[in-house]
Amino acid sequence: MSKPKKYVYAFTDGGRDMAELLGGKGAGLAEMSGLGLPVPPGFTVTTEACRAYLATGSEPPELGIEVAQHLAALERATGRTLGSADEPLLVSVRSGARFSMPGMMETVLDIGLTDDSVAGLARATGQDRFAWDSYRRLLQMFGHTVLGLDPALFENLITRHKEECAVKDDGELDAEQLRSLVGEYKALIREESGAEFPQDPAEQLQQAIRAVFASWNSERARLYRSRERIPDDLGTAVNVQAMVFGNLGPDSGTGVAFTRDPATGAPGPYGDYLPDAQGEDVVSGVRDALPIDALRRELPAVYAELARHLGTLERHYRDMCDVEFTVERGTLWILQTRIGKRTAEAAFRIAYDLLDERRVREDTALLRVDGTALNRLMFPRFAQRPAGAPLARGVPASPGAAVGEVVFDSRSAVRRHEAGARVILVRRETTPDDLPGMVVAEAVLTSRGGKTSHAAVVARGMGTVCVCGADTLTVDPAARRLTTDSGIVVCEGDTVSVDGTAGTVHLGALPLVDSEVRRTVETGEREGALGDAVLRALGHADKAARLEVRANADTPADAALARRLGARGIGLCRTEHMFLGERRVLVEDMILAGDDDARSAALRALLPLQRDDFTGILRAMDGLPVTIRLLDPPLHEFLPDLTELSVRAATDDGADPRTRELLTAVRALHEQNPMLGLRGVRLGLAVPGLFATQVRAIAEAVVRRLRDGGDPRAEIMIPLVADATELRLARAEAEQVIADVARESGVSVDCPIGTMIELPRAALTADRIAPYADYFSFGTNDLTQTVWGMSRDDAEASFFPLYLDRGVFATSPFESLDEEGVGVLVERAVTMGRAANPRLQTGVCGEHGGDPASIRFFHRAGLDYVSCSPFRVPAARLEAGRAALGADGTNDTR
Ligand code: ADP
Ligand code: MG
Ligand code: MG
Repeated sequence: MSKPKKYVYAFTDGGRDMAELLGGKGAGLAEMSGLGLPVPPGFTVTTEACRAYLATGSEPPELGIEVAQHLAALERATGRTLGSADEPLLVSVRSGARFSMPGMMETVLDIGLTDDSVAGLARATGQDRFAWDSYRRLLQMFGHTVLGLDPALFENLITRHKEECAVKDDGELDAEQLRSLVGEYKALIREESGAEFPQDPAEQLQQAIRAVFASWNSERARLYRSRERIPDDLGTAVNVQAMVFGNLGPDSGTGVAFTRDPATGAPGPYGDYLPDAQGEDVVSGVRDALPIDALRRELPAVYAELARHLGTLERHYRDMCDVEFTVERGTLWILQTRIGKRTAEAAFRIAYDLLDERRVREDTALLRVDGTALNRLMFPRFAQRPAGAPLARGVPASPGAAVGEVVFDSRSAVRRHEAGARVILVRRETTPDDLPGMVVAEAVLTSRGGKTSHAAVVARGMGTVCVCGADTLTVDPAARRLTTDSGIVVCEGDTVSVDGTAGTVHLGALPLVDSEVRRTVETGEREGALGDAVLRALGHADKAARLEVRANADTPADAALARRLGARGIGLCRTEHMFLGERRVLVEDMILAGDDDARSAALRALLPLQRDDFTGILRAMDGLPVTIRLLDPPLHEFLPDLTELSVRAATDDGADPRTRELLTAVRALHEQNPMLGLRGVRLGLAVPGLFATQVRAIAEAVVRRLRDGGDPRAEIMIPLVADATELRLARAEAEQVIADVARESGVSVDCPIGTMIELPRAALTADRIAPYADYFSFGTNDLTQTVWGMSRDDAEASFFPLYLDRGVFATSPFESLDEEGVGVLVERAVTMGRAANPRLQTGVCGEHGGDPASIRFFHRAGLDYVSCSPFRVPAARLEAGRAALGADGTNDTR
């Protein structure tokens, strides 16, 4: 015979490891009861009972009997009876699911009050007013939560009473007024619900339990779960608990306390206290709470006891906890505990303080912090919370704080920046044309687009503050101004402050402070508890990690910064920028060249410039690998815009032959879909001498560094390979050039040659490609675009929000690697590649390399390194270490 199902557990029967069945709140209450903390007695109806109710629309038949048995036990334990006319037992009926869903579901307090027992409560406490106030609270909560009546109906009545008595606070209504309010509430319930408020307390209890079950499926609870990715089929437990009262006079009160400061992590009790009040008054904010010190002053013995219990809980849970507590006439009761939520700063501080206190092991400390938290600490922030309302709110797309003058186009951004101004680039949305402006801007602000819009992705990559999708702003680039929904006009040159962490924009200059954490990571100088914790976490992560972290950097300055932030090389050095600015003319010459001689001449002019660039980067990364990608983008990107050229050709009557030539070239190079056109290795094979020149510049830079006594570790990367033959040809040419340089210089040049794996065909034929590659570097951005068959910019500008809303993606595949699709290709290509070439190195050079969830995947896939923008390097190091310790994304502390 199988054991009969049990739907109800007394608090004394459960424990912390039963959260699935008892919910987080129930498990916590049971654990505290077991620890001997003063918890008002009670019992928990399981999530299983809730699931049964939700599935069938009625309670399992045994439930009523079990509840009755537990209620009888509760009555014996408290010596009181539910609904009794003298000294009645009252209970709360509290929701509590596996995962905390603050404010999403319902709780009903003071169950058990009836027309009879209200008098008993008054007699037992000696407080008429208190008894009637409790009754009206019950009617209000019951009416709303159980009977589904509009809370405003109740509020209107209480407001009328307050007006009649000319008082402001609910607390100022006397017993007589509350008694007449109770009469009105009951009439309201009768009229609106068509039934009397139940005078049978068992009936109240049963209906309240059912209402809590049903609240699992309220619209706001569903929405919350879908946002937080909490499964819909867990159900909630229901805790029935003897009521205690914090509103019985000055030696009573209620509050919330943390075992440490959840904002800074500083040790010692922290919290809020409200004398002569019930817990729901704190939550609803009807009165302002006092700091917990008020309790220490007014009821020192109670405070001491609370502090002791906080200590017990923290030692027991080995983490910062918070509690809800109530003091009833000098007696302390603990009503709830859980692992406390905390800021990024507090997470680091607490984890490493607990390590010092020998509460946790080093691995646990590292697992309790994460890259997302560290990223948040790396950016400057506003010195204090801005006082006034923001001009607008948008998506907090790239964290940090910035102040500057508003500009409305890329060109003005560059011009003002060159004049020494700090600028905030404001656009409806950004495109690749805005790049120069984005590079110099302190912050980017857009009125359209979400977390994965071009603005957001590029800004995050550069570590630039970004707020996007501030859709209450009307941006008018032609008039050079923006208008807020309240009609405030901000013109070009006006100063605004942008908070990319909060997603807000403010008028004027708010004071900024630099990130101490970033400085600490860069200098390695330990200063203060937070910096110390971060450095210890990073040190431990570096030791634990198997994945190496490199940076994506194109200039010596970026390379040096990345190195200070702990990068172990450059995973992607793009060469496009070496063909822009003043050098654009040389590139135009190369493209316009009518014959081989002209082309060679143009390339020869570019050679020394690139050699200098490479020398600088190799110097900054001396001793560490620098993976240099040969030219990738389609050539038209280096030529003037077609429209602009056409206008030029028309206005100067075509007098300038250069204009005409350029126009012809641009027309010839025009492609329907440049993303899939003549670019990458195709360009290298199609434009004689282009890749050879770049390889020569690299090899000569290596020679130069060697002669200067350096330790250059250049690696050449061939982009956009789809077929092994492409790589074989490109590699042969490169090897020839390297051999030439070695022969000419008499210095031996060792320069590995590898390829990007960024097309599905490359991944699928990895075994054929691997013999020609010293390494694979997964270009996961292009790989995602080509696997999904969508161009990121177009997708993000049009149907992305819809796809996120409709649940096609949980998160954008451009932000977190799509493990089911792209990830399978990565894993296969690694396995096949290594089988064909055992010495093959593997890495990732897309921005996914800086995303915590993706890093954990790359670790499991067995890659050798990830590479990301310099600012994300510390977080990536942390995640590489956590991945090696088996972090799975859920963070115990939240
Ligand atoms: P939530 O999960 O929304 O915090 P709770 O179930 O914790 O809801 O209850 C809401 C408020 O009522 C809290 O302040 C809590 O402390 C208080 N409360 C719950 N049960 C009791 C009780 N038995 N005695 C006194 N106050 C209670
Ligand atoms: Mg609570
Ligand atoms: Mg690419």
